[in-house]
Amino acid sequence: TSKWARAEAILRELEDKCSTPIGKLRQVADAMTVEMHAGLASEGGSKLKMLISYVDNLPTGNEKGLFYALDLGGTNFRVLRVQLGGKEGRVVKQEAEEVSIPPHLMVGSSHELFDFIAAELAKFVASEGENYHLSFGRQRELGFTFSFPVRQTSIASGTLIKWTKGFSIEDTVGEDVVGELTKAMERQGLDMRVTALVNDTIGTLAGGRYYDSDVVIAVILGTGTNAAYVERAQSIPKWHGLLPKSGEMVINMEWGNFRSSHLPLTEYDQALDVESLNPGEQIFEKLISGMYLGDIVRRVLWKMAEEAAFFGDTVPPKLEVPFILRTPVMSAMHHDTSTDLRVVGTKLKEIFGISNTSLRTRKAVVEVCDIIARRGARLAAAGMVGILKKQGRDAPASAGEKQRTVIAMDGGLYEHYTIFSKCLESTLSEMLGEEVSKTIVVTHANDGSGIGASLLAASHSQYL
Ligand code: ADP
Ligand code: MG
Repeated sequence: TSKWARAEAILRELEDKCSTPIGKLRQVADAMTVEMHAGLASEGGSKLKMLISYVDNLPTGNEKGLFYALDLGGTNFRVLRVQLGGKEGRVVKQEAEEVSIPPHLMVGSSHELFDFIAAELAKFVASEGENYHLSFGRQRELGFTFSFPVRQTSIASGTLIKWTKGFSIEDTVGEDVVGELTKAMERQGLDMRVTALVNDTIGTLAGGRYYDSDVVIAVILGTGTNAAYVERAQSIPKWHGLLPKSGEMVINMEWGNFRSSHLPLTEYDQALDVESLNPGEQIFEKLISGMYLGDIVRRVLWKMAEEAAFFGDTVPPKLEVPFILRTPVMSAMHHDTSTDLRVVGTKLKEIFGISNTSLRTRKAVVEVCDIIARRGARLAAAGMVGILKKQGRDAPASAGEKQRTVIAMDGGLYEHYTIFSKCLESTLSEMLGEEVSKTIVVTHANDGSGIGASLLAASHSQYL
């Protein structure tokens, strides 16, 4: 019937517009490298902010004592305590708690959000067991992982540049987020000091480095996406401070805001962007990250419903609801291995109220998921190759040199969306070639960012 022909045409056009042949990926990687240079050259020199983290020393393993971390970066926030035992003891024990952020606090006032966080933190501290030991007379110290673009002013202070990922609280923008948290902790009567302000990429890099000294890049693929890496301090023209002893500086790229004419953007991406909380911004993030993938799929299905009557004569109204299809559901449909695509059928019913779908219909839905997920994964891989290029690690080492590069990955999308992560890794190999691929290790730094922030709190303790 013509229904199938029209649906097929929409699918083929989608596939074509989303295609990422290797040549295109190389252009994206090259553009990433170029933007990295520009962002390091001058403030505002690029869409890539290339923020200086003030982290010029990564954990060594000698860190000792009881430290805390607070991770705020998406839909949940986590609190963590870690007892560090130095080179011998390593992480003696750790405990974490996760709390979801009530949606109204994501768009309310700064005061309310930070009060909520400080109250949860105070509860967490109050619940501490006897087996955690704070050295006598010491104040508790916290590493604050705050995963939004921040202009750092020191290791323990920084002002919020803008919110992303669905947060929108006007009165925090331009404020020192450590100051906001500290005031809220005081209001709660919690005696704790923030000694390190980092973002999840920096935390993941630090956490990864603690276990493996070859970690030089961290990438987050979760609600949003971002990357950090170790740069030579001399290669940062916009840095006018003293050169750190280590000769290195960790850079928070804020790569979610990357954009390039080489990115394969479709009408669906354009519509998503225009209707988003931050139109024109975070274009790379909107192609790749967990907050958006499901919604791109929904937009394609909606078009198929409208123009090809793909789900019957009327358009199921729920297809019009923004963000009703979350990425974990998209992922569940995409991973459906049953012969009749039972999971797809169930989800279409549950989420969109579309019942009695044929196998052919379900197959088409899986194909949409596949096109959108693979595009995102391949673009993320291209971005990573851009960083490796900047570090000179995308080519074989010179004779006699042994090179090993470890990339620490974290985030719910990377962790749970297996087809996505597999595709990302195979694309990396495809781009780098066999010889170089052997020297690159991609690891899952499970909750590196929490541990990493507490390690950085330790290495920047007021008692050192
Ligand atoms: P955040 O990025 O908010 O700090 P996470 O790293 O835990 O938190 O990532 C959560 C995000 O990961 C979710 O918003 C969702 O987009 C994605 N995600 C979680 N579970 C899955 C899943 N099973 N399949 C695909 N994506 C998932
Ligand atoms: Mg996170």
